[in-house]
Amino acid sequence: MNIRQILKDNNFRFNHSLGQNFITDENLLKDIVAKSGITSEDIVVEIGTGAGTLTRELASVCKRVVSFELDKNLIQILNITLQGLDNVEVVFKDVLKLKDEELAEIIGGKFKVVANLPYYITTPLIMRFLESSLDCESITIMIQQEVADRLVASSNTADYGVITVAVELYGDANIVLNVPKTYFYPMPKVDSAVVKIDVNRAKYDGIDRKELMKLVKCGFAMRRKVLTNNLKSTYGMDREKAEAILQSVGLDTKVRGEALGIQDYIKLLDEIKKN
Ligand code: SAM
Repeated sequence: MNIRQILKDNNFRFNHSLGQNFITDENLLKDIVAKSGITSEDIVVEIGTGAGTLTRELASVCKRVVSFELDKNLIQILNITLQGLDNVEVVFKDVLKLKDEELAEIIGGKFKVVANLPYYITTPLIMRFLESSLDCESITIMIQQEVADRLVASSNTADYGVITVAVELYGDANIVLNVPKTYFYPMPKVDSAVVKIDVNRAKYDGIDRKELMKLVKCGFAMRRKVLTNNLKSTYGMDREKAEAILQSVGLDTKVRGEALGIQDYIKLLDEIKKN
């Protein structure tokens, strides 16, 4: 199927503000689906149907695809590209605006997310699925390379930040494919990568994730400042107390938030709660 020709024949106009950079390369589509680990048992949720290229590939492997799209100008194209597929449902709604109950009803069971994301919603989209009560087993997404690097970063690196810890709190993230910008139509400005997040909510069961994220955000609030200063301003404690708390969990009083791993943050939160 020549997708580029179908788009041209139908005078489709790309909407850049919707992050429309489509994948037409058959091998890349197969690779993404293979890396997602989906099987014929799975319900897959796709965000951004586009011209339906990934949707078709997903549908050839999984039980059912529920694909969300915003741009109704694609209906004409999708009527051609998804013709005859009885396990695909395209929903013209914004996932970010639907409530958990509405989404659960549309999806109808546990699911895996696989998508070439519109990049402007990357972080809210990831957090939408991780923080919700929805039964999401994994998230395999094409995103900008630099954001992918942040999701899998180690502490004490420039890429390490709030989003790294937030994702780690709910699962395990890995880069499974690096994809040069030349693979997209039209070509974007930056390279991309596919990240797979295996959701594992039990990993930090019992941790007050909200309170922990407050502390992590405090840790990264002013990256160049030492953690003592950030603790003072977020928790209203004086210098002596902030330093004593850091020392009691084995941290240097001059440590910066970016040096702490998730276990350090957990210990620190416990100590703050005691005081
Ligand atoms: N999956 C297709 C592919 O790989 O070729 C399209 C990917 S394209 C990067 C992202 C798609 O997401 C676009 O078709 C865009 O219209 C759609 N989109 C943008 N914002 C959206 C949103 N909030 N919800 C659902 N789809 C959205």
